[in-house]
Amino acid sequence: MSNAFSDAASRHAVLAPYGWDDGWEAAFGPYARQGLIPGRVVRVDRGRCDVVTPDGTVRADTEFVVPRDPMKVVCTGDWAAVDAADAGEPRYVRTLLPRRTEVARSTSSKRSDGQVLAANVDHAVIAVSLAAELDLGRVERFVALAWESGAQPVVVLTKADLVDDPGALAHLVADTETSAPGVQVLPVSATTGQGVEVLAALLAAGTSVLLGQSGAGKSTLANALVGEDVQDVREIRDSDGKGRHTTTTRNLLPLPSGGALIDTPGLRGVGLWDAEGGVSQAFAEIEAYAADCRFHDCAHETEPGCAVLAAVEDGSLPPRRLDSYRKLLRENAYLAARTDARLRSEMRREWKHRQALGRHMVERKRGPQRKP
Ligand code: GDP
Ligand code: ZN
Repeated sequence: MSNAFSDAASRHAVLAPYGWDDGWEAAFGPYARQGLIPGRVVRVDRGRCDVVTPDGTVRADTEFVVPRDPMKVVCTGDWAAVDAADAGEPRYVRTLLPRRTEVARSTSSKRSDGQVLAANVDHAVIAVSLAAELDLGRVERFVALAWESGAQPVVVLTKADLVDDPGALAHLVADTETSAPGVQVLPVSATTGQGVEVLAALLAAGTSVLLGQSGAGKSTLANALVGEDVQDVREIRDSDGKGRHTTTTRNLLPLPSGGALIDTPGLRGVGLWDAEGGVSQAFAEIEAYAADCRFHDCAHETEPGCAVLAAVEDGSLPPRRLDSYRKLLRENAYLAARTDARLRSEMRREWKHRQALGRHMVERKRGPQRKP
C-alpha cells in the first residue's frame, strides 16, 4: 500500500482543477482504504463513462452502479470511486460519492421519472439573449429550475453589444433583477468581451452549467470562457481497451481561470420541469408577503386580508410577478398530475407483465405433470 499522504496529495494535484476539495476527500476516505481511486465523470455513454483520475482518463464500466431509480444513474459531473489500474481491464465504477446538487429534467427530485443532466453543479448560469425582447417569464422558469437543482443561479444577459444605449441596458438589468430575487444579473458580450472576465471570476470556484434557450449564445459564451481552441481541449484520445485509439468529446472542462464547466447536449434541451421548491425560491418575495395573509391556505385570489394582493395594490409587487407565480404553480400541478398518470400506467403494465409471467411459470411447472 502506498503512502496515504502522497496519495491524497496526488489526488489534490490532479483533481483540484475538476473541483476536488476537502469535502470530496473526506467522502472518498472509506473507498481509498478499499484501494479504489477517485475521479470525476466527464462523459457518459451507453454503459460506460470517461473518468478523470490521478491515473489519467479512465474509460470505466458502469455495470455495478445501475440503480432502479433513474435519478441515480451515473451522469456527467459525478464523483466516482473506480478500480485501480492493477484491477485489470475492464475497470468498473464501484460507487458514486453522494451528490451535492443535481440539475434534472422534468422532476420534483423525489419522483422516479426524472433524468439528471449534470451532477455537483455549483453555479447555474442562465443565458438570456438581448437580441430579442426580454422574456421575463422565461427567466423565471430557468431561475426556478436552477434553485431546484441546488445550484446558485446567475443570469447573464448575452449579446449586450446589441444594446447601444447604456440607460436601456441598465433598465433591462433592473427588470431582470426584479424577476430573479437573490440572483446576480450580468450583461455580457462574447463579441466585445464585455462582462466575460467578471463572469469567469464568478465561476472560478466550483462547477458551472450554462442553461437557456437555443440561440441564447451559450456555445459562444462557453468558447469565450474556455478560451483557446475549444475543440482541441475537448477532444481526448483514448485507448478503448482493444488497443485502438478513439477520439471522444469531454462534457466537463476545467476553465483557465479556475472552476469547471459542464456542457452536455441534454442540458441544451432543458425545457419543462416541475420545480415546486424552486418556484418558492424564485418567488421568494411573494412567499414573504404570503406569510402575512390572514388565511394560512390563502390562494391570493379574492381572499380578505390577503397580503399578496395588498402588495400588488400598493405597487410594491408588480402584477406580472403574481401572474407568473400562478402560472408556474399551475404548470407544476399539471406536470405532477401527468407524472402520476404515467406512473400509474407503468405500474399497470408491470402488473400485467407479472400476471402473464406467473401464468407462464405455473403452466411450465404443470407441464410435465400433465404428461401421461
Ligand atoms: P446557443 O444555441 O445558446 O449555443 O447559441 P450560440 O452560441 O450558437 O449563438 C447563437 C447566435 O448568436 C450565433 O449566431 C452567435 O454568433 C450569436 N452570438 C453569440 N454571442 C453573441 C454576442 O455576444 N454578440 C452578438 N452580437 N451575437 C452573438
Ligand atoms: Zn393571500
